[in-house]
Formats: sequence, C-alpha cells, structure tokens
Amino acid sequence: MQTSSDPSSDPMQTSSDQQPAGAPAGQTGARIPSHAVVLGGGIAGLLAARVLRDHFERVTLVERDDLPPGDVPRRGVPQGQHAHGLLAGGARVLERLFPGLRDELVADGALLHDVVGDGRFYGLGGYQVRYDSGLRGVFLTRPMLEGHLRRRLLTLPGIVPLLGHRAESLIALNGVDGKRAGGVVVRRGGVSREVRADLVVDATGRGSRAPAWLEALGYARPEEETIAIGVGYTTRRYRRRATDLDGDALVLTHAQPPHGLRAGFAFPVENDEWIVTLTGWLNDHAPTDEAGFRAYARSLAAPDIAGLIEHAEPLDAGAVYKFPTSIRRRFERLKRLPDGYLTIGDALCSFNPVYGQGMTAAAMEADALDATLRAAGGRRRGLAARYYRRVSRVVDGPWDLSAGADFAFPGTAGPKAPGTDAINWYVGHLRRATAYDATVTQAFVEVGNLLRPPAALFAPSILLRVLRAARARRRDERRLGGATPAPAAGRAAHPATGGGSMA
Ligand SMILES: Cc1cc2nc3c(=O)[nH]c(=O)nc-3n(C[C@H](O)[C@H](O)[C@H](O)COP(=O)(O)OP(=O)(O)OC[C@H]3O[C@@H](n4cnc5c(N)ncnc54)[C@H](O)[C@@H]3O)c2cc1C
Repeated sequence: MQTSSDPSSDPMQTSSDQQPAGAPAGQTGARIPSHAVVLGGGIAGLLAARVLRDHFERVTLVERDDLPPGDVPRRGVPQGQHAHGLLAGGARVLERLFPGLRDELVADGALLHDVVGDGRFYGLGGYQVRYDSGLRGVFLTRPMLEGHLRRRLLTLPGIVPLLGHRAESLIALNGVDGKRAGGVVVRRGGVSREVRADLVVDATGRGSRAPAWLEALGYARPEEETIAIGVGYTTRRYRRRATDLDGDALVLTHAQPPHGLRAGFAFPVENDEWIVTLTGWLNDHAPTDEAGFRAYARSLAAPDIAGLIEHAEPLDAGAVYKFPTSIRRRFERLKRLPDGYLTIGDALCSFNPVYGQGMTAAAMEADALDATLRAAGGRRRGLAARYYRRVSRVVDGPWDLSAGADFAFPGTAGPKAPGTDAINWYVGHLRRATAYDATVTQAFVEVGNLLRPPAALFAPSILLRVLRAARARRRDERRLGGATPAPAAGRAAHPATGGGSMA
C-alpha cells in the first residue's frame, strides 16, 4: 500500500476547518468538502474508515506499521498470531459494509462451517448437543481477514492510506465550548507533520493515548473499568489432514469454573492448517514448547485437542500473548467532551479475547458511528456525546457477558455488577443444559454470537427447559454413578425447523 501521490488526495492537505463534520451521505452525490482521519489500520480502524467514507469527502487512514506484503502477522497487531473467531453478529455487519466478502474469503481459502453442527464443543461437564444450526462461521487467520478488508477499503474512492506514520498528538483548536481536535500530528522517522481534519477517530487499540490526549485538550480523563483476569494465550499451528478428528472441523473445550482454569480451541484456517490456542485464566498459562503444549492440552476437560495434536506436524515455534485485564473506558460518563475526536474498537473497550467478541464489537461500534453521523445530519457540535451515548449501549451487551462470565472464577478482581453471582449460577445451569437441549443451545449460541441480547437467555421458555435438563442430568448422573455422559452420537434436529437450516 503506497501513500497516494495524487495532490487531490494528499493526506497532508489542510482540511476546510469551517466545514461541518458530517456531510450528507455519499450516495446523495453532493458531499460538502470534508476530511476525516482514522488512527490505526486494525479491524476497528478499517471499519471506521469504511463507514466515514459515506459521510466525508476524504478519509485518511494513519497506520504506524509499514504493512508487510502478504497476509502475515505484523508488529502493530501481535494478537494476529492467535486464533481469531469471527462471531456471526460481526460477520453480518462486515458483509453489509463489504458485500460479497464472505464468498471472496472462501474463494481464497477460508473455511465455512456450521458453528454448532461441525464441532466438538465441550461445555460445563459435557458435550454440547450437535445439530445444523444454520449459523455458518468463516474460519481463517486474522491477517487474512485484515488483508481482505484493507484491500476492499482501499479500492473505494476518497480513502487515503498514510502508512508508516505514528499519530503523536491531537491538534488543539479553539472551538465554541472549549478546545476541539482539529486533526493530528503524525511522525515518521524524525519528522513530525500536521494532518488537519474535521474529525479524528482513534482506533489505535488497547494502548490508545486517548485519556492523555483528552487531558492535553483540557478535558477530564474517562473512568477506566478494569477486570483482572490474568489470561494467557499460547498458540501453535499444525498441518491439517482430512482424517483429523474423523472429519470434524472445530474444537472448543471450555474452562470449568470455579477451579478449572484451562481452555482450548482448534480452528481450521487457510492453507490446510490448524490454529490451536490453549488459554488459561489467573496466570495458569500453557508453555510454547511442543512437549509442554501437549501436556497442557492433556490437562483440559476433554481429550479432543490433545488427541488432535498428538500426531500432527507442528508448523511453527508457537506464540504467546498475555492479557492481564479487560478494560472499558467510560467516555459516555464524561460531562464535557471535545468536538472532533472519537474512539472506537479496543481503544474504547478491550474485552477478554476468550469470548471472541473484539472484532464483532468493533463492527457494531462502526455501525453506531454511522448511525450517529446520519442522525447528526452535518451538525458537529455535541457529536461526541451523542456517539458515546449510542455506542455505550452497544458495548453493554458483550461487556456484561464477558465480565460476568469471568467472575465465575473466584480469583477475578474488579467492579462486579450487582446480581452477577446469581446470574452466573443460572448461566452455569443453562450451559450444562446445552448437553441436553437444542433450543437452549441455539439461544446460548445466538447470544454468544452477539445476534441476540443476553436477556434472551432468561425467557420463561428457556428457563423451563433449563430446569428440565437439570432433572435429566441428575437422572443420568445417578445412572452413570457420577461419570459424565458421553457425547451424543449423530445430530439432533434443529430446534426451530426440526432439521433444516436457518441460513
Ligand atoms: C490474543 C487475542 C486473541 C483475540 N481473539 C479474538 C477473536 O477470536 N475474535 C475477535 O473478534 N477478537 C479477538 N481479539 C480482539 C481483536 O483482536 C480486537 O478486539 C479487534 O481486532 C479490534 O482491535 P482494534 O482494531 O481496535 O485494535 P488493534 O487490532 O490493536 O489495532 C490497532 C492498530 O493501530 C495501530 N496503531 C497503534 N498506535 C498507533 C499510533 N500511535 N499511530 C498509528 N497507528 C497506531 C496498530 O499498529 C494497529 O494496526 C483477540 C485479541 C487478543 C489480544
């Protein structure tokens, strides 16, 4: 990706500061000259730029990495070496923003699998029932997904990449209610330059300097909610053969709270590979070396991953990522916010990655940004407050789900919402019920994929089924003398259709 040499799309060109930030949507034709800058070319930055392009004449994407050729892990996104599941909720938004993306990914080697029927999912003390849920996930590496999104974005008129430039600080201009952001200072090598803009969207990830930048403009720092979970990811890749797992495509072995801290997942990715991640809470982490990795896999609650890698050919030396805390920055609680500066993605909320929500949350946040700009109709004042009000409602669902689930481990530390223990007690029973009941499983999977709000798990019909499953489980346990029931052979019918696909 090269910085454009076309003077009309020069990212250093000074923006018209008098223009409103939210010009009419692109499809109306007559866009008011305006310029937005997105900081960070990760998933959140790419999606923000895609959305902004419908509202601004020009969108500059500032990324500190000089991107490598090919879809390979890069320095600025170290988590790219680890398994990245794209939830169905996120896949839907991506498809809307980039029509045809899923087919394009599959044509290039990504795998399409039913997120219930094609896997071995070991939940709390048992295997989840299997049936064709109609929810098909795309399985691929994070660099491949990011590469495709980036290439699609860069074909759009008005998008200007500025690579190898680090955003250093905001440009402070006098606004009506105090200072506002009038662009950003970027640096490459020893040289700093100004990029003027009507709106700056910060997608620089978890390490975003948003709190310090707000302070420098004369505003308060947002409160930071942190939940200490001490999660560690260890990932290795293996050659995939058609006979592996008797043809099953996905494995997910959950941790067993309160005391079983270890989990693992194996996903198929492009180029006939397995990406296998072993993860542990509260600093109980897997080593990278092959023997240690295998031993850790054998300690999981189900034998599938250990069995898979026992005879598989390793393809790399392994990678580690430590994730000490989930962080949510509460911009929506600030009494004053500057115009011209917003945050999105991990800069706004960095979720425990185990639940696979980060990219989907970023997609839903990009949707919220789009909706806010549409509703603003070109008004710049108060945009930040309106955006954060809207986006905080988007973040609430996944945050409550993941933070709540983490408190099932007694060593988790942080602000715990009232009622969390009672909810976890019920969700524990609900998760056990997924070994018995396809309707409960479908609700659990749809909520987990951010297609439905968590409240769906508390519907009276689901509660009743959870109770019935608890009774059936007790019967089985008595019959088996305490042993865990084996996975059901074959597939159950789809709970809604009695067998067909929902897609
Ligand atoms: C180990 C791990 C596993 C994960 N697994 C999943 C998963 O299975 N599913 C899922 O949905 N999510 C997962 N996530 C989360 C996911 O990676 C992120 O939530 C998602 O990609 C959104 O991140 P982002 O774009 O906000 O930030 P990032 O991906 O961190 O991107 C930030 C970008 O900003 C650039 N940058 C940083 N500072 C500057 C600067 N000053 N100037 C210019 N550029 C800058 C960086 O180089 C980078 O390109 C995982 C995260 C981790 C840590």
